[in-house]
Amino acid sequence: MANKSFEFISGAECLDLANTIGGARGQTNEIEYLESYQDLLNWGRLKGLLSERQAASLELKSKDHQYEANEVLEKTKELRKSIYHIFSAFASGQIPSDSDLLVINRELEHGLHRQRIVWGSSGYEWGWEEPTELDSLLAPIARSAADLITSADLTHVKECTSPSCSWLFVDETKNQSRRWCNMKTCGNRNKLQRFRSRQIRHEQK
Ligand SMILES: [Zn+2]
Repeated sequence: MANKSFEFISGAECLDLANTIGGARGQTNEIEYLESYQDLLNWGRLKGLLSERQAASLELKSKDHQYEANEVLEKTKELRKSIYHIFSAFASGQIPSDSDLLVINRELEHGLHRQRIVWGSSGYEWGWEEPTELDSLLAPIARSAADLITSADLTHVKECTSPSCSWLFVDETKNQSRRWCNMKTCGNRNKLQRFRSRQIRHEQK
């Protein structure tokens, strides 16, 4: 779906990619947000990894290389799965598996040569070559995962506590009190459920 409304609530590119599956993973309410290569481009554009022009140019290219574009979509989903496994493991105090780290390392090996010094909003900074390859989005995502794994923020990675949600985020609150991906959705739903169960208990008395 071209107009699927992605949410960017995690504080890290890699986790925002992990959050392109809605609902609880492996449960009946699981929702796939990346149904096509075009969805991936839309995600990249809204995330700010691609400009309008770059996304339009990659979309045009994908129409002539549909097989390759589908392969990139599958590769993105493989990367997404490993990112989810790794950070979900860290969030629950576990060590991630070597096979998931291998997927990130393989993508770094494949894509880091595309890094460049670019002129940014506050001077020169690390950036990327012009994204002209169908898989140009993958390296920045893998790099974001590597940056997060090796940063102090790793201990602040959490998974939404709602049983019907598997979204990941970096808790940037001072007292580490964030429990839900989004107060408006999971937070409210949880509050409502607690209110209803209190009411039922009250009526049963
Ligand atoms: Zn949630």
